[in-house]
Amino acid sequence: MRRMRRAKIVATLGPASHEEKMIEELAKAGADVFRINMSHASHEVLRTTVERIRNVEKRLNHPLGILVDLQGPKLRVWKFAGGSVELVAGQKFTLDSHNDDNGNAERVYLPHPEIIESVSVGDRLLLDDGKLSLKATKVGNGAIETEVIYGGKLSDKKGVSLPDTLLPTGALTEKDHADLLAGLAADADWIALSFVQRPEDIIDVRKIVQGRAGVMAKIEKPQAIERLEEIIKLCDAIMVARGDLGVELPLEQVPGLQKRMIRMARRYGKPVVVATQMLESMITAPVPTRAEVSDVSIAVFEGADAIMLSAESASGQYPVEAVATMNKVAVAVESDANYRGIIRAAQTEPEATAADAISAATRQVAETLDLAAIVTYTASGSTGIRAARERPSKPIIVLSPNQRTIRRMSVVWGVHCVQTEDAVSLEDMVDRACVIAYREGFARPGDRIAITAGIPLGTPGATNMLRIAFVRQDGAGSS
Ligand code: PGA
Ligand code: MN
Repeated sequence: MRRMRRAKIVATLGPASHEEKMIEELAKAGADVFRINMSHASHEVLRTTVERIRNVEKRLNHPLGILVDLQGPKLRVWKFAGGSVELVAGQKFTLDSHNDDNGNAERVYLPHPEIIESVSVGDRLLLDDGKLSLKATKVGNGAIETEVIYGGKLSDKKGVSLPDTLLPTGALTEKDHADLLAGLAADADWIALSFVQRPEDIIDVRKIVQGRAGVMAKIEKPQAIERLEEIIKLCDAIMVARGDLGVELPLEQVPGLQKRMIRMARRYGKPVVVATQMLESMITAPVPTRAEVSDVSIAVFEGADAIMLSAESASGQYPVEAVATMNKVAVAVESDANYRGIIRAAQTEPEATAADAISAATRQVAETLDLAAIVTYTASGSTGIRAARERPSKPIIVLSPNQRTIRRMSVVWGVHCVQTEDAVSLEDMVDRACVIAYREGFARPGDRIAITAGIPLGTPGATNMLRIAFVRQDGAGSS
């Protein structure tokens, strides 16, 4: 199975899509990575979903990535006596530590005592995805007194965002910790951390993950934006989590931040996923709005590694159509006359490493000689990612003996991954690259391909060779 686009598609699974038949349809329509959202999935659902994805992967003989997304420290108010209250602008409202179910229009229990102490006078509290807004007027004695700025209906267990407050929580709650272990036990390829605030959040999680999965930082807090560069350096990938980001920061800042995040992630060679409301109207309609098509296009033009569906594929009425739409839009953008120029304009210099120097040279050679493909041997995947960082106009085929590497690369821009044993000799390496490029439909007899590898073969992190080879009549190679 070969994709006709470079940007990857992440599809969230949920009640509308977690049956095996549907997972297969989504993969065929273009989903490269499946996201399991631990805000909703039990460990039982996690395990069965992973099993189904692996069955589909086997049937299609095409690697699929699995992203387990941890809920993170999402704060919520407790309950009201009548289920909900109406708050009016200008009134006073208190969030306190009296544990009861009897919230009313004057007060409600906030079941996060440690949070109360870290709020300062003047900080904003945004409720229910930012629909209501409060300002802290007095903090102390286990309570936050506030004035209502924007009122509205507030019901049981609605979310509370504190964009002005650095929260004294790590990135992992107790639930996250348990979900993380379950995700690793189920062999997830990626773990996503919600509400990352500091670089230390990534370091803490890395200690637990120990390389068993890639660590993706969801950027959805202003505190993470302030330390974006440090966070990008420490994680394996980021997600532009526009849903919560647009609550914690003014909505109109999100598009600019998206551009900044994509550029910085591309500069460091860290995969970047653009998420949330990309095709929101397709939750209930078989066709998207023009504005949504434009939004998806922008992410693809910016060179994002992947674009993501949330409710559209998890609980919407048209999951397959949503994936197919993303696929069509990405294919169209990538063949647009302006695409290459826009991608190149945001290109950054290679770093002073052998892998980067060779990746940059390979892109140049492949484009100058109009080669059919770039074939990269990689053990850990790092050379494959550096090859993708160059955003070459020619296809990249990543070969690795390591199934984890192959699956993890499913979120990376432009790579077509194939699992194959390490070559035993230089000749075997050239042959194997040509045979796979031929078999997978990237090269025909008479075409030439570029091959990069580390010699001696099989030494990780030692890419030091670039070779040009001819694909022969039988699909094998000669150089
Ligand atoms: P969520 O994350 O869907 O888990 O909230 C994505 C976002 O906030 O955009
Ligand atoms: Mn979020």
